[in-house]
Amino acid sequence: MEQYQGKTIYNKIAIGTVFLYRKKETQVKRRHIGDTGAEIARFDAAKEIALSQLDAIYQKALKEVGADNAAIFKVHKMMMEDEEYLDSVYNIIRQKGLNAEYAVAATGGHFSELFAQMDDAYMQARAADVKDISERLVAVLGGAGADTHSLESPVILMADDLAPSETVQLDKSKILAFVTRHGSSNSHTAILARTMTIPAVIGIDIQEEWEGKTAVVDGYTGTVIIDPDPATLERMTAKMQEDEKMLQLLRELRGKETVTKSGRKIHLYANISGVSDLAQVQKNDGEGIGLFRSEFLYLDSDDYPTEEEQFKAYKMAAQNMAGKKVIVRTLDIGADKQADYFHLEKEDNPAMGYRAIRICLDRQEIFRTQLRALLRASAFGNISIMFPMIISVQEVRESKRILEEEKTRLREHAILYKDVEVGIMIETPAAVWISEELAKEVDFFSIGTNDLTQYTLAIDRQNPKLDNIYDSHHPAVLRSIQTVIENGHRGGAWVGICGELGADTTLTKTFLDMGIDELSVSPSFILPVREAVRNLD
Ligand code: PEP
Ligand code: MG
Repeated sequence: MEQYQGKTIYNKIAIGTVFLYRKKETQVKRRHIGDTGAEIARFDAAKEIALSQLDAIYQKALKEVGADNAAIFKVHKMMMEDEEYLDSVYNIIRQKGLNAEYAVAATGGHFSELFAQMDDAYMQARAADVKDISERLVAVLGGAGADTHSLESPVILMADDLAPSETVQLDKSKILAFVTRHGSSNSHTAILARTMTIPAVIGIDIQEEWEGKTAVVDGYTGTVIIDPDPATLERMTAKMQEDEKMLQLLRELRGKETVTKSGRKIHLYANISGVSDLAQVQKNDGEGIGLFRSEFLYLDSDDYPTEEEQFKAYKMAAQNMAGKKVIVRTLDIGADKQADYFHLEKEDNPAMGYRAIRICLDRQEIFRTQLRALLRASAFGNISIMFPMIISVQEVRESKRILEEEKTRLREHAILYKDVEVGIMIETPAAVWISEELAKEVDFFSIGTNDLTQYTLAIDRQNPKLDNIYDSHHPAVLRSIQTVIENGHRGGAWVGICGELGADTTLTKTFLDMGIDELSVSPSFILPVREAVRNLD
């Protein structure tokens, strides 16, 4: 087994036999010709054929990869008819008395070098396009017909380089993956591979002896494995199957409602640690953000993130979600999440110590900075604010009072904000037992089953020795959830779950029967949970 590291173009896995794609080498000879007029006519005729080939490729691409991606072949036609390009070809034929093949190859080489030297990745990638049209013209001049490549069975196609036109002309059903030595992630070949959803890796030093061998292309990591051992093969096959199931879910469930067969709808939101997770939320069709763990902004920083820095992050989330709900949990630092600059003292029981809302209510400047950033960002979308680790009505009232003071301050400075929904996390047994009173104070609850399990069962969630008894399905936890939903509704608050248990599809029915309104899960669990809900009566 050998493993090679390249650069990934499209995240997907393929396992199959290697096929080395060799270009038909066209050796361009430099010849002097007598009749330059006839040579120009020969070139013009070849150009017409090449243009009609590009028309055919455009039509094929239009069907397979859509108008936006097919447009590159219109660009190829334009390049082929570009005045400067043609002038160069004509000049070489006319003034130097050289053959058309040579004139095209020399022009193509010159133009593609010019592009390659440009200080812009997009323009550099266009070098491959000029090369592509020039090779086409040379091939037609040499008498080649329309170029087709027939593959008998699906293969992992490996090549030094692949032109966009070659990529489109290959029979997609016969390509498991593309692996190339050259190329860039901006090239049209890369774009086409992504559009055709074919796993692809570039930058691999392809070797002749790989032909016919079994290979694994892991488009997630950019690795190519030749002759995988049985354990690797088994592991990668499982990963590929999981992937395929997920892709099938994506195809079937994106854009669909999270609703049972009898029409009961719940909100299915995503948990994120920062704005870099937003792409995953969009990809997996999150209906909103149910838990933005804002403490990661602090953990990723060497000092307290400023109001401006936080504002930018919250605003980006609000705008990206375009009016969908974005619930930001205020700073939940302490316990397992430590940042040096907070100078938190070492504690005997950090999980039950100075953390989350306790720090915020004590060191209010930190809290107020975050609330101002959140309020300012609220003007750009649909932000809600959620307080963590609540154990009393007083804590909620105090947090809301501070929030109101910050609103007043913004008003005094004529800074826009919206009247955001306010919620709390239910993570402590105390909050469970007073949930009816708490519900009267807030718009919503989100049950943090990770901490709720820890505190209910008195089991440190960080202690690996206790993993086997850390049981989120414990009746005490499930009854707590039931109680919180009932009390929440009685007090006028909607109730969701944002702990890991929310993604446990063996409990989806239980949660719906209990009356849950929302589930917030990691982006990759959104569609499996949607599927589970849609399968319920
Ligand atoms: C929880 O406790 O369930 C929760 C969602 O918060 P965290 O995991 O960030 O503590
Ligand atoms: Mg928690």
